[in-house]
Amino acid sequence: MNLHEYQGKELLKSFGVRIQRGIVAKSAKEAVDAAKQLTSETGTSWHVIKAQVHAGGRGKGGGVKLAKNLNEVEEIAGQIIGMNLVTPQTSAEGKKVHQVLIAEDVYYPGDSEPDEYYMSVLLNRSTGRNMIMYSTEGGMDIETVAEETPHLIFTEEIDPALGIMPFQARRVAFNLGLSGTAFKEMTKFVTALYKAYVESDASLFEINPVLKTSDSKILAVDSKVTLDDNALFRHRNLAELRDLREENPIEVEAGALGLNYVDLDGNVGCMVNGAGLAMATMDLIKQAGGEPANFLDVGGTADAARVEAAFKIILKDPAVKAILINIFGGIVRCDRVAQGVIDAYKNMGNIEVPIIVRLQGTNADIAKELIDNSGLDVMSATEFQEAADKVQKVLS
Ligand code: GDP
Ligand code: MN
Repeated sequence: MNLHEYQGKELLKSFGVRIQRGIVAKSAKEAVDAAKQLTSETGTSWHVIKAQVHAGGRGKGGGVKLAKNLNEVEEIAGQIIGMNLVTPQTSAEGKKVHQVLIAEDVYYPGDSEPDEYYMSVLLNRSTGRNMIMYSTEGGMDIETVAEETPHLIFTEEIDPALGIMPFQARRVAFNLGLSGTAFKEMTKFVTALYKAYVESDASLFEINPVLKTSDSKILAVDSKVTLDDNALFRHRNLAELRDLREENPIEVEAGALGLNYVDLDGNVGCMVNGAGLAMATMDLIKQAGGEPANFLDVGGTADAARVEAAFKIILKDPAVKAILINIFGGIVRCDRVAQGVIDAYKNMGNIEVPIIVRLQGTNADIAKELIDNSGLDVMSATEFQEAADKVQKVLS
C-alpha cells in the first residue's frame, strides 16, 4: 500500500524525522487557511503547493509550485486541485488531483546554499537485509543517476539484529560530504528514518530530495512510502490511510473478492491457479503472439463461484480478445473446475470472447470430456503447446 506524500511525512515526523512542515487542503479556501496557519507556526510567508497523487515527478508535470503570497496560494491551489496531472510516472491521461499539500518554503537563503540529496530504505533481496541507498545527486531521477554516474550512489547494509549502528550513520553523513551541524543532523536523520522504516513494516521509503537548508538543518522535502500489505493488520492506524481513488478500480474489486489480480496492457486474459503457473502462462501467451491482459491467480479453491468472479473481473477489461484458463488440478479436481467453468459460462450468458481451457492433473480426461460435450463455445486443451496454438489461432 502506498501513502500520499503528506501521510508519509506525518509518519516520519512521529518517529522524530525532521520534515518540511505542511497542511493538506481540499479547496483553494482551505489552502489559504492552511498557509495562514503555517505562517503563524513557522514565520515563513512563502509556501509550496504540492499535488497529492500517488506518482512521482510531480515537479516536472507542474504539480509543485512556489507561492510568494496568499493570493498566489489561492490561485495556484485552485489551478492544481481538480487538474489531471501528467508526470513521467503517470499514464497519458494523468491522475486527478483531489488535494494539495501546502508546505513551508524550505529553500530560503542563508549562510550556505541549500543542497539536495537522495535517500531510500529498502530490502536487498540478494542479501536478505535492509539497506539504505543514498546519493549526493538529490532531486534527480535515481535511475538516471544509476545509469550515468553509478559511483555517486552509496549503500549501507543494516544487520537486522543490531539495527543501524552509530558508525554507519556517520559514514552516510561523511559520504554526503557533510561537516559540523549538518553532519550531526544527518546522523540523527538517517537513524530516525531507519527506525521508522522497520517499525512501520515498510517495504520502501524514498526521500528525494533530503534537503540541507541554508542554516544546516536536514529534512525530508518529499516522501514516498510503501507499506507491506501483509503487515497492515499490525498497523490499523496506517491501514486507514489507504486512498482507493489512487488505485486501479478493477484491482480493488478483485482484491475484495480475494483474487490476486494485476491489470496489464495486453489482449489475452488469463485465469490460473498459483503464481508460478500464472507467470509461465503469461510467457506462453507471449510466445503465441499475444500479450497478457492481466495476471490472475485464483488460488487453490477454483470452484464455480470463484471462476465466475474471475471471469467477471477479466471481462471488465475491454482490451481482452481471448481468455486462457490454465489450471492444474492438484488439490482441486479438474472435473470440478471444468464444471465450475461451464456453470459460470451458463450463468453469465453473454461471453463474447473465445475461451481456451487447459486443465491438467487429477481427472483431467473427465474434465476435457465435460468441456467438449458442454455445447459451449469453449475450446479445451491438455498440453501447454496445444493451448498456445489455440490462443494463436483465435487471435489471428
Ligand atoms: P516530485 O517532483 O514528485 O518528486 O516532488 P518533490 O516533492 O520532490 O518536489 C519537486 C521539487 O520541488 C523538489 O525537487 C524541489 O526542487 C522543489 N521544492 C520542493 N519544496 C520546495 C520549497 O519549499 N521551496 C522551493 N523553492 N522549491 C521546493
Ligand atoms: Mn521527489
